[in-house]
Amino acid sequence: MTGQSELQHRYADAVMNTFGPPALALVRGKGARVWDADGKEYVDLLGGIAVNALGHAHPALVDAVTTQLATLGHVSNFFATEPQVALAERLLGLLGWSDGRVFLSNSGAEANEAALKLTRRTGRTRVVAAQGSFHGRTMGALSLTSKAAYREPFEPLPGEVTFVPYDDVAALAAAVDDTVAAVVLEPIQGEAGVVVPSSGYLPAAQDIARDNGALLWLDEVQTGIGRTGTWFAHQLLDGVDPDVVTLAKGLGGGIPVGATVARGTAATLLQPGNHGTTFGGNPVASAAALAVLSTLDADGLLEAATERGEQLADLLAQQAGVVEVTGAGLMRGAELDGPYAAEAVVAAREAGFILNATGPTRLRFVPPLVLTRDDLDAFAAALPAILDTARAAAGSTRETP
Ligand SMILES: *Cc1c(COP(=O)(O)O)cnc(C)c1O
Repeated sequence: MTGQSELQHRYADAVMNTFGPPALALVRGKGARVWDADGKEYVDLLGGIAVNALGHAHPALVDAVTTQLATLGHVSNFFATEPQVALAERLLGLLGWSDGRVFLSNSGAEANEAALKLTRRTGRTRVVAAQGSFHGRTMGALSLTSKAAYREPFEPLPGEVTFVPYDDVAALAAAVDDTVAAVVLEPIQGEAGVVVPSSGYLPAAQDIARDNGALLWLDEVQTGIGRTGTWFAHQLLDGVDPDVVTLAKGLGGGIPVGATVARGTAATLLQPGNHGTTFGGNPVASAAALAVLSTLDADGLLEAATERGEQLADLLAQQAGVVEVTGAGLMRGAELDGPYAAEAVVAAREAGFILNATGPTRLRFVPPLVLTRDDLDAFAAALPAILDTARAAAGSTRETP
């Protein structure tokens, strides 16, 4: 038995089957590369699902975590620590919110749970969300997530969520009135396959929310922290300034960190006793996030995300079989001319590239922001054969009429 298949068998016998069988057993990583248990090397174009912003085993992150753990690892939220406060200050600075406040947690779902609870403190209970949305798997976050297959086994979910078509201003305007606490949107829908709304949509959503006294809450769990070439995706659009932003994924660079950031009146809605967490804001996780933010800054990785993102978009657009390329920075979607995205993921793996499919015809790319030009050149060279193999494999498994 190889190292890979041994671990995959043990996984099946010990780990709850919520994700299906794992495609690979991975043992180490460096930069935008990972190695499996049989020693095979891969260029990682998934980045732990938009998490490994600094790639794998980045020395700045390793140093920050080990130094903090060797100094003060955990103290509970009865006490303040320097990394926790510094992280909150840094996030407010990046958002430009002098009247903001931050709640630190451990995941995207938790960041959204805190925000959902915050909206309840407005005195209103309705929330408007978008079709195609993904906000997480806990009961509150799931109540905002539109996909029926995720929701239905767990109904009834916390209520009063209205779903409207994404990127449809008229539908949003019709759904929002003065009973709505918040409008929650992803600035670019990630799990839906990197769906970018038209440039007027978020500004209009902001106006609609404000006109009705509702909060505009942007879920930047996937889009935030440099992914799109700006600190936050909403900063790609002039004049968009939400009331609440939720963050996670890239923030800790692989250490679990979530953040709920609110400003103005929204910043003080949660009062002592309203919410809590044992681990959230712990010094190690906070030190990790601070290291991610300072390294993104010091190493010019936002500019790199823009440049590499353009290189990736160009190579995808030039590729036969790719009919549409979406996204910004290093968050990109590629629409294929047929339903062979799953087969492309398999063929890419054989060729030494980790890809992700969000649907039968859709590939998503959310690689580490440290991805190099050479990594992408290698992918460009391999892609035609990957898609040919995938097309053939899909054809061979389908009944021809
Ligand atoms: C991944 C994701 C979440 C959920 O984050 P978890 O850390 O998996 O709980 C929420 N919102 C968006 C937009 C996401 O992409």
